[in-house]
Amino acid sequence: MTEAAPKKEQRRKFQAIRGTRDLLPPDTALWNHVEETAHAVFNTFGFGEIRPPIFEPTELFARAVGANTDVVSKEMYKLHGDLESFRDRAIGESNRPRTPQQLNMSVVMFVVFVGALKQALDSQELTADAESLRTIEKLTSLVREGHKRWQASQPTGWGTEWPEFFAECQRLAIQISIESQSLRPEATASVCRAYIEHNMQQLPQPQKLYYIGPMFRRERPQKGRYRQFYQIGAEVLENVKPDPMRDTAKELAKDAITDAEVIQMVMTFFDRLKLPGVQLEINSIGHAAENCRRGYVALLKSELEKVKDKLGADSQRRIETNPLRILDSKLEHEQPIIATLPKIADHLCDDCKTHYAAVKRELELRGVFYKENWRLVRGLDYYMRTTFEITAQGLGSQNAVCGGGRYDGLVELLGGPPTKGIGFAIGEDRLILSLQEAKDQSLVTSHQPPFVYVAWMGANAYAAAVHAAKDLRAAGIRVELPPVEQKFGKALERASKLGAQYALILGDNEVAEGTWTLKTLADGTQQKFTEPHLLDFLKKL
Ligand code: ATP
Ligand code: MG
Repeated sequence: MTEAAPKKEQRRKFQAIRGTRDLLPPDTALWNHVEETAHAVFNTFGFGEIRPPIFEPTELFARAVGANTDVVSKEMYKLHGDLESFRDRAIGESNRPRTPQQLNMSVVMFVVFVGALKQALDSQELTADAESLRTIEKLTSLVREGHKRWQASQPTGWGTEWPEFFAECQRLAIQISIESQSLRPEATASVCRAYIEHNMQQLPQPQKLYYIGPMFRRERPQKGRYRQFYQIGAEVLENVKPDPMRDTAKELAKDAITDAEVIQMVMTFFDRLKLPGVQLEINSIGHAAENCRRGYVALLKSELEKVKDKLGADSQRRIETNPLRILDSKLEHEQPIIATLPKIADHLCDDCKTHYAAVKRELELRGVFYKENWRLVRGLDYYMRTTFEITAQGLGSQNAVCGGGRYDGLVELLGGPPTKGIGFAIGEDRLILSLQEAKDQSLVTSHQPPFVYVAWMGANAYAAAVHAAKDLRAAGIRVELPPVEQKFGKALERASKLGAQYALILGDNEVAEGTWTLKTLADGTQQKFTEPHLLDFLKKL
């Protein structure tokens, strides 16, 4: 029987969604090399790997990253928004009592909403506490009743009872907490959530954790900017015990050492990878206090007000919402203005000054080169003191491969105990792009095992070839065993096409004699071995 030709839509050619991409061989070898290097280097600094889930409650990111940031307000991938959008529709529809059609639609939308609620509860996509459950039950029976009444009377106007009915439906609907979930746009929030959830403050402090994995942001895709991208990041979290005898000077010195160690770890990692043109920039953004950052921001605001007319629209808006971010501006015509603005370094409190000086000293002690950049800021409130960014070559305007900073207080903001934190996130895609631009792929190939193509001819040789392949593979050597007999010329051609370094020549004669020939494809030289010697030789490569 022949199958019917597929319909046009069945022949649709699928493509990866814009902003996502397939990572393919041979590139994936470089990805693996990068990740293996991260595991190795981070382990030498005493970090352990954490693998948090890739989706979490939306609320977690809203609170940790900040509801007003672009990342959260515009770029998050929300999952099952159905319930929320049904609720929004039902509320929106029933808000403006006008036409009978709207009345009908309002009833229908509430019916849909309670139906969806039931389904979500049954499938456990929605979990509700006892109170929420009671509210859902109340709403459901109210809506059912209303629906019946509506069917019975087919009302042609809103009268007074329907606005009252919908007001009550809305009141109940709003009370139901529908927890939306989102794909993670970053992982610091998850690590902090995990620290709290697993009571890690009871483990030896600090906890040093790192992660590798995909992140999701709905950004405009371009070179070095994707909607699914990968980060390699690390966090150091340390519980702060209440201690009336706390020695502030000691604490500051200790924190500075932690910061420097973390920065040194990233730099060691980049160094190990031979990442070209690495530049570390550091800054201190003080802490949120009147005699420190808050005072500085107030001063900055008043200075910005004076030059407001000369700034672009974005910066004008940010004077109110986020003046620090203006320092980050890349607009050509704003540069001379920004250059005249007050610098935070001149307005740090004594503790923050002491800490910053210590970080620089500690970096110098470790031989880590840095450049100070007073305009390096992080837009979020909880960041404090140390901030840093690392750029690399060959990336155009998306040249930041790593961003990091100290965030004491974030764990507490997420409902955990008082905790200090510092961490960074490396953009793995950009890191790989930069390594590829450098065209020094030797570091990739040098990690490949020897690659042997088995050129066999004859039935006896085939059996020997199968055994040889098994032994060589067990020794970690890459072996290509062709499934069909090939003439030697053809076999050698295919071996070099695949990129093999050696061809193992196995004819019935060789097998009978017990001496096998290994041909080095690069120069055509040949060597004869007995099988055990051959294994020894290849293993030593
Ligand atoms: P950028 O200024 O480049 O947008 P960011 O401040 O949004 O970066 P962070 O949230 O600090 O970046 O993330 C740390 C690193 O993750 C960045 O330095 C970058 O290398 C990488 N990164 C961030 N967003 C993307 C993306 N959409 N695609 C690829 N890499 C990204
Ligand atoms: Mg960004």
